[in-house]
Amino acid sequence: MTTTTTIDLKMYINGEWVASGDRTTIPVINPASGEVFAQLPQGTVADVKEAVDAARKAFDSGVWSGISAQERSTYLLKIADKIEEYQDELVPLETQDNGKTLTEAGFDVADAAACFRYYAGLIKAPDGQTYHVGDPMQAMVVREPVGVCGLIVPWNFPLLMSVWKIAPALAAGNTIVFKPSEVTPVTPQKLIAILEEVGIPKGVVNMVTGTGAEVGNAIVESADVDLISFTGGTKTGKHIMKTAADTVKKVSLELGGKSPNIVFDDTDLETVVDHGLFGIFYGTGQVCSAGSRILVQDTIYDKYVERFVERAKKIKVGFGNAEGTEIGPLVSQQHMEKVLSYIEIGKEEGATLACGGNRITTGGLENGYFVEPTVFTNVTSDMRIVQEEIFGPVVVIQKFSTEEEAIALANGTVYGLAAGVFTNDGARGMRVIKKLKAGITWINAFGPTYNEAPWGGYKQSGVGRNLGTFGLDEFQEVKQINVNLEVGPVGYFQS
Ligand code: NAD
Repeated sequence: MTTTTTIDLKMYINGEWVASGDRTTIPVINPASGEVFAQLPQGTVADVKEAVDAARKAFDSGVWSGISAQERSTYLLKIADKIEEYQDELVPLETQDNGKTLTEAGFDVADAAACFRYYAGLIKAPDGQTYHVGDPMQAMVVREPVGVCGLIVPWNFPLLMSVWKIAPALAAGNTIVFKPSEVTPVTPQKLIAILEEVGIPKGVVNMVTGTGAEVGNAIVESADVDLISFTGGTKTGKHIMKTAADTVKKVSLELGGKSPNIVFDDTDLETVVDHGLFGIFYGTGQVCSAGSRILVQDTIYDKYVERFVERAKKIKVGFGNAEGTEIGPLVSQQHMEKVLSYIEIGKEEGATLACGGNRITTGGLENGYFVEPTVFTNVTSDMRIVQEEIFGPVVVIQKFSTEEEAIALANGTVYGLAAGVFTNDGARGMRVIKKLKAGITWINAFGPTYNEAPWGGYKQSGVGRNLGTFGLDEFQEVKQINVNLEVGPVGYFQS
């Protein structure tokens, strides 16, 4: 029997690395091997209270909100530099924690550094307004940090989703109580260590780890938390929105998707198939904006499916850190079982399984959570595999004949996160995009996104935005200030 050393993770509360109040832990598993490689503190409600109190005290003291944007910006730039300095540690850790390939993890780490740099710059830009009112009043609007922000993130981009919230929250002058996913807490912990290393003042940054039901819920319920910024599933998002209503806190929600990728027949087949594969299978399909519904014009449908399936079968699935691997495992056994159960549902609903559909149990992958790239055809809009987010390497390819039909099918789910259109007719591309109910869209691409642009969804894909100037707005209050320049009585009442 071999014994492996496990990483002993900690929480970070009021500038101290601590175990959970009741000392219990959750095993953290490498999804490629099924091995436990770390133990995570299962935080308690009391731990959350301690973290919130520390964040409140730090916020009220002005140690962070009261310093200049220039000073906060300097900290953010140092964090970006440190992320790059630790790149060789962060990349393999992300692969071990989440299963993603080293290439994908490399993109995430680079994006994480760039995101801190973006907000380091943005926070120094002029903001606020003045507006013209009659003498003797002088009127203006100023932006202020919201206060104590609860930041809750999922497991699919453990480091990057954390950064998308932490960077703008800190840039704006807030203090934070952060909860990474209990499934992938390792790189988020390293990120917090970096924040400590650059000298962010005590109490400004706090991390409580553990399950959503206990730790996440306690953060949302706390009357001393002013804002919740959440990324995760739509079901959890609805629960959070309801819970947050009791204390009327600001809430921003980045939720699930079932995003359409529309392909017209005036396109180059090899090109659109290639983008289609990238849109759904990048990240093993565990991407909120994945193009999980490909809508193909009937005139090229058969050819598209044939070529897509041919190429999907050749995708190299394997350990994220192995040479040549193109996609890694699913993140956990529980999630793999969910994905496999959707494949069974698809078969029962009468869709045609064009390829894949199985767990991979050969070639040394038997202990990990590997599933074949899976393609369903002959689907109808009422099927659950067409309507519900599967969040794995599973795609449905549907047929349409007219532009109107494509738009109706594309908009025909409760979600509205992302959408793409492929066509060589520029006017049609723009016309279709304008009719799609989605927050993130592409013409002749599917996937690229930028720190400068707002990320978020329509409909049940969310409320509010991450990234860009909109992502900073989420973490700021606006206050109008009206100054009387000639102080004297109003003279309204005669008594
Ligand atoms: P999840 O909703 O299960 O969990 C997300 C986070 O919320 C975790 O940290 C979890 O512990 C916490 N949580 C769970 N229950 C909670 C509760 N009752 N109160 C407070 N916190 C709670 O999601 P997941 O399975 O980790 O992630 C996958 C989902 O995330 C997918 O639906 C995906 O589409 C979505 N996602 C969306 C975006 C986006 O930008 N729109 C980005 C990434 C992932």
